[in-house]
Amino acid sequence: MKYLIIVCPYCGGYQAIKVGQKSKSCPYCGRRFDTLHVKVIARAENASQASMLIRYYKAKKAGLVDKLYGRDEGTRA
Ligand SMILES: [Zn+2]
Repeated sequence: MKYLIIVCPYCGGYQAIKVGQKSKSCPYCGRRFDTLHVKVIARAENASQASMLIRYYKAKKAGLVDKLYGRDEGTRA
């Protein structure tokens, strides 16, 4: 099962949906929205990758990526 990482159109919260899922209730603000019109920020191959990506984007939004993942991720010589 593949997943999409999306942004809630109401509160901006990051969350995962299954590919093909048509609607979603946001776990943060509780509002239901149509997934056809939301912003997809990443794709995941499985549920654990999806939750890892959500953690990553939350950290990025909070400005914690440098602390948690290192400044030049994957490009260190
Ligand atoms: Zn929301």
